[in-house]
Amino acid sequence: MKRRDFLGAMAGAGAATALTACGSNEDNAAAAAVMQPQKTYQWKMVTTWPKNFPGLGTGANHIAQLIEAMSGGRIQVKVFGAGELVGAFEVFDAVSQGNAQLGHAGAYYWRGKIPCASFFSSVPFGLTAQEMNAWLYYGGGMALWEEAYKPFGLLPNPGGNSGTQMGGWFNKEIRSLQDLQGLKMRIPGLGGEVLKRAGGVPLTLAGGEIFPSLQSGALDATEWVGPYNDLAFGLYKVAKYYYTPGWHEPGTTMECMINEQAFNELPKDLQAIVRTAIKAANAEMLAEYTARNQQALHTLVHEHKVELRHFPDEVLRALKSLSQEVVEEAAKADALSAKVWASQKTFKEQVMQWTEVSEFAYLRARAL
Ligand code: CA
Repeated sequence: MKRRDFLGAMAGAGAATALTACGSNEDNAAAAAVMQPQKTYQWKMVTTWPKNFPGLGTGANHIAQLIEAMSGGRIQVKVFGAGELVGAFEVFDAVSQGNAQLGHAGAYYWRGKIPCASFFSSVPFGLTAQEMNAWLYYGGGMALWEEAYKPFGLLPNPGGNSGTQMGGWFNKEIRSLQDLQGLKMRIPGLGGEVLKRAGGVPLTLAGGEIFPSLQSGALDATEWVGPYNDLAFGLYKVAKYYYTPGWHEPGTTMECMINEQAFNELPKDLQAIVRTAIKAANAEMLAEYTARNQQALHTLVHEHKVELRHFPDEVLRALKSLSQEVVEEAAKADALSAKVWASQKTFKEQVMQWTEVSEFAYLRARAL
């Protein structure tokens, strides 16, 4: 058949007829499958956040809702807050063991199991949210993250981003490094290690434990996320000064891990739906934080009379120097950590030059 005649026949008979006429066995099987009642999947998502917690918990809910809607209900996802099915810090094991199919958390919580995990959430004085997404999606980061989680039967995904966090809540002013000596502060991950070297006492507490610990004096200071979440926790009631910037978490990536076996049991279209829903939620969360943080900051400063402070440059310079030490040492934990940091460090050195001539230059111009 001549090409022109063939196209004419296609148009006349319709694509479906043409598909059947020249279809392979595979095409016919796919067509038959579409006619069958479709299998449904009941999934569980465990999270490290309090149920429905603004931004983080609702971000997890959003992934579940997207998966259900995009799959036409073929996958139903029940979301559990921290402590409902498993504790906040048991999320990784629960998904790894298949007790839940999805887990929403922050990779730095798992650095005790996987030394390089922190590099996939946030690194002190590291990448911003935009730069993290660039490294993960287009700079080789995802392949390394997959390598790190593979032994645990998990597929990692960036599942949200808080943007630049705040430096934290303090009951005294931080005028010099001296003011950090003996300071008991809730600050997880590599940032906590930096604080320790600066003379402080870092503690890792789940979100729900922060307010009572600060109230009872078990903590002198805490970081949590940013104005939106910190307002919701009422931290302004138990601390007076609110410091910026969040040098320890310049653009924290949340994660949505998938149990690999459960994922592999899904047909290809549902696999694509799960991945795409998580990717959409990753972008959505950053937009939400950007919109809500500025509203919440206004409320904190104007209604609750919170004292906003910038860390002095001298303190930031010292913390940056200690951060470099801590990160370089963390990179020596094992071969994979070295590989991950080498990739991220190279990317950071390059992207910083672009950020400087693009966003940084623009932000400076805007503020003139
Ligand atoms: Ca934080």
